[in-house]
Amino acid sequence: MVRDVKMSSKPFQERPQKNNYDIVIIGGAIMGSATAWFLSKNIDFDGSILIVEKDPTYQFSSTARTNSCIRQQFSRELNIRISQYTAQFIKNFQENLEDYRVPKLSIQNYGYMYMADTEDKAKSLRNVQKTQLKAGADTILMSPDEIKSKYPFYNVKDIFLGSINTVDEGYWDGGTVFDWLRRSAIDKGVEYISNEVVGINKNSTGNGVEAVRLKSGEVINCGVVVNAAGPRASKISEMIDLKIPVEARKRYTWVFSAECPLNIDLPLTIDPSGIHVRQDGPDTYLAGSKGFIDGPVNFDDFSFEKDLWEEYVWPKIANRIPAFEAIKVKSEWVGHYAYNTLDQNAIIGPHPIISNFMFINGFSGHGLQQAPAMGRGMSELLIYGKYQNLDLSPFGFDRILNGIPFMEEAII
Ligand SMILES: Cc1cc2nc3c(=O)[nH]c(=O)nc-3n(C[C@H](O)[C@H](O)[C@H](O)COP(=O)(O)OP(=O)(O)OC[C@H]3O[C@@H](n4cnc5c(N)ncnc54)[C@H](O)[C@@H]3O)c2cc1C
Repeated sequence: MVRDVKMSSKPFQERPQKNNYDIVIIGGAIMGSATAWFLSKNIDFDGSILIVEKDPTYQFSSTARTNSCIRQQFSRELNIRISQYTAQFIKNFQENLEDYRVPKLSIQNYGYMYMADTEDKAKSLRNVQKTQLKAGADTILMSPDEIKSKYPFYNVKDIFLGSINTVDEGYWDGGTVFDWLRRSAIDKGVEYISNEVVGINKNSTGNGVEAVRLKSGEVINCGVVVNAAGPRASKISEMIDLKIPVEARKRYTWVFSAECPLNIDLPLTIDPSGIHVRQDGPDTYLAGSKGFIDGPVNFDDFSFEKDLWEEYVWPKIANRIPAFEAIKVKSEWVGHYAYNTLDQNAIIGPHPIISNFMFINGFSGHGLQQAPAMGRGMSELLIYGKYQNLDLSPFGFDRILNGIPFMEEAII
């Protein structure tokens, strides 16, 4: 089962209307659509945009298989600034879209509860809290007794420290944001086609790209190519012999009901084992985990791992929240992270030599909440050649070439 994506009524054509566009975006999910929307609403841009999307149902995209949460608790100040922008973007969504049909949105602020079960992990929570407070986040540290008194359902016997922030942190309706960004971009003239990019042509000097080749046979000339292909980003880059450290990694999700529901909203609890569980509706909960072994998988592999839930995930959850001894799984799915193996952070911006080939890749599990800031940043690069608002250059491709990580520690 896949959640959160509501399909826009407009059907995709397979063939483009022209054979020449200023910008071709490969991948029309949240990153491609956010980029296109910010471009198309900017009065300084009057170019043409083609989005090529291989699967207009989006059923296997990360965007459709996401857990759709936002947090301020990052270890990098830049990631916190990005989340702050997204929170404002969500809360003012109707005004931002300038369309009364767009629903008003909010964030369900139950917060993320990070739990440390060693002194080293507790130290790390204390350290990142300093960064978060400095950046304006409202993270508080809680002793096991404080946790127990506010959230009596937790078992905190092995816990040294917790950290939580309940401002602009929790669930948001990413599916609606995606759907309306896409509809609005289409209304503003962005063309989406249902087709697959199977090759990219470089120009004669080799320091630029000039066309994409479609599965249907057409060759589409373009001024810029934006790689917004999610977990398949490395496949697109390889079309022009570039390597990027982004691979598809499986993440599993279960939605369940409990025989005895909790009487207050369950924060998105990050157990020290790495498994997470949160409120997901009035009487239902959502848990997520990686597999027994975490590594690259085939782009088309969405199979489940036998016994993962029964033998690994559920016991951990029931240990942390004993009320979850009696539960019933209602649905489950597998999705792919576009996992950046260098530093688990985004790669955004041009290639230093092939400068009209742009990356917006490698979001490693926090891309949905970063899409507004990343789409805006990418549109600024494309229109003005530099960032106008948030400086996203620490996420640039140079660090990949030089092998210098810009590490995000708070990864789920
Ligand atoms: C289980 C799970 C839970 C998550 N939870 C969260 C969360 O709570 N909060 C958060 O912020 N993020 C979360 N994420 C991450 C977030 O969902 C992603 O970072 C985000 O959706 C990435 O969007 P994207 O547009 O880059 O990629 P995708 O959504 O994967 O879209 C890429 C698109 O490119 C298309 N494409 C690929 N190759 C081609 C080609 N050759 N030609 C044409 N089209 C092509 C694909 O069909 C696809 O539609 C989660 C991800 C998963 C899997």
